[in-house]
Order: sequence, then structure tokens, then C-alpha cells
Amino acid sequence: MRICRFAVNDELFYGVLEGLDAAGEPGDETVIAVLDGHPFNGINPDGRFVRYQDVRLVAPVIPTKIIGIGKNYAAHAAETNLGSVPVEPLIFLKPNTSVVGPGEPIQMPWQSERIEHEAELAIVIGRVCKEVPKERAADVIFGYTCANDVTARDLQLSDGQWTRAKGFDTFCPLGPWIETEFDWEDVAVQCSVNGTQFQDGNTNDMVFDIASVVEAVSNAMTLLPGDVILTGSPAGTSVIKAGDTVAVKISGIGTLKNPVVDRE
Ligand code: MG
Repeated sequence: MRICRFAVNDELFYGVLEGLDAAGEPGDETVIAVLDGHPFNGINPDGRFVRYQDVRLVAPVIPTKIIGIGKNYAAHAAETNLGSVPVEPLIFLKPNTSVVGPGEPIQMPWQSERIEHEAELAIVIGRVCKEVPKERAADVIFGYTCANDVTARDLQLSDGQWTRAKGFDTFCPLGPWIETEFDWEDVAVQCSVNGTQFQDGNTNDMVFDIASVVEAVSNAMTLLPGDVILTGSPAGTSVIKAGDTVAVKISGIGTLKNPVVDRE
């Protein structure tokens, strides 16, 4: 099931996408079954439908927190000069004010001269949980979406920690929707800029798999419904600048596209 969040005028709703084409993409026939409230306590359609073409998708969730996993693909750890892969999942936070939805601009802050895209598979948590053992990780996962862990690489290195580099407003595009039926193994995670592909990784190359990540994060902090875990970026990150369009594509979920603009 594909759960989206959308705006009609200034009002926000959750909904279930129906009538996707053979490739799983929205088309002329696509409609959205409107949900009563949010989907984390059960999927409750309110009986209304809207045409996909008549609405604007927004970020599928505004989490209370976004937990990033650093250096979870060995080849990316090597290319960024941030040292070897960690012996346990390396956890950092991005503020929820960094979230933007599909089609919303990523704003380039003036403090950085090297801002890079990081295409990542994002886990969306479905229930309040803590200390979740690997074997029960699937029980607390609501679904998955695409993420771009936008990073000011120069500040990441010069600050010595990652909060500013990864925390600027608009530095966490999420979407275009949450896929609730998704097998994360052997999935391509790709990123292109202006149509040229820069990242082409595979989730099988994660240092710590999905269950291990959920266990490690929930051993440190309580997770709430809608919280998002970014599972790390494969190699191939590259610089983005105003005027670019960045597309994160994950097989079985979809494509998250964002234009890049200078911060006003
Ligand atoms: Mg990352």
C-alpha cells in the first residue's frame, strides 16, 4: 500500500494511492482514497476520493525526530574521508525542520561551499517502541520512503560533528509516499542530478541491515510513530548547486525529485 500526504488548498490529509500504472507510477487514472486522520493507528478511509492530479503531495510525515546512520556503506565512508566503517551503527540526528516534500526546493545555505546529495532508504516507524530486538524489528516498521540526507560536506569535516552540516532547513527531502509492503533486501538506491546518475548502490551493501539499525537506535532512544531512520548513503555522492534537480530513486518505492535553489 502506498500512503501519501497531500494538500488541498491549505488543508492536509493522508490518503492511499489507487490506480497506479504498470510501473507503479501515478497516471491519469490514479486516485487517492482519503483517510480519516493519520495512518499510524490503522488505515481508515473516510469514503472520499480525490484525483491525484488535483492535489499537491507534501512530505509523507513530519517526524518528531530523524535518526541518521553514518557510514553504513563502506564505499561511501571511504570516499568522504570520514574514516573506516564503525563497529556499531553510528547515530546522528537531523531536526524535523529539515524536512521538505517531493518537488519542494532544497535551499543552499551561504555558509557552505560544498553541499552534496545522499540518496537513502528511509524507515518510517509505526508505533511507540524502545529496546526492540532484531527479531521484532519488522513489527515496529510502518513502511519505507525515499530520503535525501543533504549534507554540507565542508562543514561536516570542519565542525567535527554533524549537526549543522546535516541540519539546515530543507536538508531532508522525504517522499514521495510511504510504501508499506516493501522487501528492503537487494534493492537499488540511486541518485541522479539533472538526469545524470551519480549514485547506484544496493541495500545488500549496508554494513548494518535494517533490523540491526532498528535495534541499535531503539536501544538508545524511544521511537514514536512517524519517526524516520535514514539508513545511510551508498557511494557516489556529488555536489549540488542552485538550478539543479536531484532525483532519488528506490526500486519498489518511487522517485523523490527536488529542485535546488539558493537560500533567500
Ligand atoms: Mg547520510
